[in-house]
Amino acid sequence: ESKNKGRRCYSFFSKELDARNKRKVELETEIRHALTNKELFMVYQTKNLIGNKEVYGFEALMRWQSPRLGFVSPEEFITAAEEIGVIDKLGEFALMQACMDLKKYQMLVSQTLTMAVNVSMHQLTNSDIVETVKHVIEETGINPSVLELEITESLLAQSLEEVQPVLNRLLELGVSLSIDDFGTGYSSLSYLTRFPVSALKIDRCFVKDMVENRSDATLTHTVITMAHKLGLRVVAEGIEDEDQLALLRVYGCDIGQGYFFTKPLNFNDMSTHLKGRQEKPDWAI
Ligand code: C2E
Ligand code: MG
Ligand code: MG
Ligand code: MG
Repeated sequence: ESKNKGRRCYSFFSKELDARNKRKVELETEIRHALTNKELFMVYQTKNLIGNKEVYGFEALMRWQSPRLGFVSPEEFITAAEEIGVIDKLGEFALMQACMDLKKYQMLVSQTLTMAVNVSMHQLTNSDIVETVKHVIEETGINPSVLELEITESLLAQSLEEVQPVLNRLLELGVSLSIDDFGTGYSSLSYLTRFPVSALKIDRCFVKDMVENRSDATLTHTVITMAHKLGLRVVAEGIEDEDQLALLRVYGCDIGQGYFFTKPLNFNDMSTHLKGRQEKPDWAI
């Protein structure tokens, strides 16, 4: 009886493992050609000033609509792209497309609008990123100060020694760096003083329950205070309602991002959104 049970368990897990491997192989096969097949595109989410809800800039997020696999989440396909070594190419595409689109948004609204692009740790351990960023700045003619690179905290803290020279060269180009998913990485905070990051993004998981959960609220408040003392701006991710926004305003958070302001939108839908905002009075979102 117990032997049978064990065997059933085994076959269950092995089936699950097979399914997972199959998915992994499929993803890796399909993502390899996704860029040349033009299956990848960028969407944009606004970052808004907490004080007056004005649009401060954007975060660029990659999307993949695969003809064979359908919509695949970035968590899944970015990992696959890293594993087979095509993430540099994807990252280059993200940077170029986002900066080209930013130029257009700047002409529509204001030259000071910023664009944040996510950068994978694999890109930072390969110093081609410096040439890529330089090339993108030259090609698009954007002011380097409006380009922000978001780096995930856990990964950065793990290999700071290794990537420090690359980060310094990126800073020399005049772009800014920010720490993404702050608070999820159990790391020592000393790295924050070791290179000039200009902003911290508080992870969505703290913002999510902040209104009901006192300790999440305290943590968020503390991070904002600490960041300000270090001279950093604070961006809160995943703001979904007015109550969260109100609390973040009390805590002095600078910038907010989340479905409350906008969901990630494709280039045209974001243009329409920006035009609509310009026609509305100040107090409207
Ligand atoms: P991230 O950089 O932390 O991006 C924020 C994620 O939160 C995005 O998920 C966004 O759609 C989602 N989000 C924003 N506001 C809300 C909200 O109010 N509620 C909820 N529930 N979610 C919200 P997305 O687009 O699925 O991207 C997931 C992650 O994939 C990103 O996390 C980033 O780490 C990675 N990623 C996306 N695009 C790129 C890229 O071009 N390059 C690299 N290296 N990574 C990327
Ligand atoms: Mg990000
Ligand atoms: Mg994040
Ligand atoms: Mg994230």
